[in-house]
Amino acid sequence: MYIIGNGRLLTRAESIPYLDDGAVAVKGERIVDIGMTQDMRSKYPQAEFVDANHGVIMPGLINAHTHIYSAFARGLSMPDYNPTCFYEILDGMWWRLDRHLTLDACRMSAYATIAECIKNGVTSIFDHHASFYQPKGSLNAIAEASGKLGIRACLCYETSERDGEQKCRESVEENLGFIDYCQNNPSKYLRAMFGMHASFTIGEATMKECVKRNVGRVGFHIHVSEGLDDVYDAMHKYQKTPVRRLYDLGILGENTILGHCIHVTEPEMELIKKTNTIVVNNPASNMGNAVGCSPIIEFYHRGIRLGLGTDAYTNDMLESAKTALAIQRHNSKVPTAGWNEVTSMLISGNADIASRCFDEQLGSISVGAAADIIVMDYKPYTTFNENTANGHMLFGMCGRDCTLTMVGGRILMRDRKLTTIDEDSVYSEIRRVADSVWKSV
Ligand SMILES: [Zn+2]
Repeated sequence: MYIIGNGRLLTRAESIPYLDDGAVAVKGERIVDIGMTQDMRSKYPQAEFVDANHGVIMPGLINAHTHIYSAFARGLSMPDYNPTCFYEILDGMWWRLDRHLTLDACRMSAYATIAECIKNGVTSIFDHHASFYQPKGSLNAIAEASGKLGIRACLCYETSERDGEQKCRESVEENLGFIDYCQNNPSKYLRAMFGMHASFTIGEATMKECVKRNVGRVGFHIHVSEGLDDVYDAMHKYQKTPVRRLYDLGILGENTILGHCIHVTEPEMELIKKTNTIVVNNPASNMGNAVGCSPIIEFYHRGIRLGLGTDAYTNDMLESAKTALAIQRHNSKVPTAGWNEVTSMLISGNADIASRCFDEQLGSISVGAAADIIVMDYKPYTTFNENTANGHMLFGMCGRDCTLTMVGGRILMRDRKLTTIDEDSVYSEIRRVADSVWKSV
């Protein structure tokens, strides 16, 4: 049993939202009590005391959309890569990289990404994977790393016809095989979704096969209208917008995640709302790819469920939230815009998505909830409480302030050191594999 105390306890729970000198008691995988530090220490004298050292104790952060497979792109420059549009970014960088990822490379990309997530206080991730060199076994290779490091991971493989019929078939089978694996090996830390790249790289027959063979077991995770290519393709081939196409195929629903949704029309928003489908915003990626700004303010006012991801642009969710606020204000030219939308995506939106996916109460520190807790080494110089905490998170804190990461009652990082792996030897293996990927692309 642990008591994490001597910190500013920000619970995100209604009953006790904030305690200035608070502590949380953890037994097994769950939170069993919260209160003042001294009271908790007296009540549970046998528990190991984890000193937050006046930092902020808060729920673990959640990344609702990322790509482990892109890890080795960091620092990579390809002399002939000079994209002029979004399609050329995909084709010239990301698809080229994923065509060279062996199972070893997938596994070590996962170690690299997840280690950094843990160091940024992220306790649950939703990954969207591609490794067309070898689709088969890639999700299990990632799951091996996420299991070893101890994070919660919801995985899928991005079905696509972009590498031909045979590879597309393998991508479908990889999703189905992993869905079966998760059903046969139940774990609170591992989930499957059915991945799809995007409407414009998947034909009708493949789409229908995915829906038919999934038999409603899991939700779909797909990029939607990230670039205009997706819109033009659907209009040209099917005479309908991408969301309408997905709706007609039976892909929308309360367990399905649509990444981006930048170029969507009002009728498409109505379909998303009607089906209670989730939209996940990735602002830094959208800006970097020069694809536009997602209308999340409009989504929010229509009551559409929203989450925040990074699209692997960063592993720091606070950085993603800061960018989300800036792009919404910049885009709307309204300096007060986006506050509620961005903070609720980051906090309640992501908590709702992850809680439903992992069948656990996540994103809040309350009795009975899963013990996914982080401590941030953050010393506010203005008033800090439940009313001002979001301002501190968006303008003061950053992911690397995290000093302790706990998932399901297990400490994964303490004093910035990962506890479940030998960091030096894993990082040297990551660099070795990354070098060989760089040579091959
Ligand atoms: Zn993405």
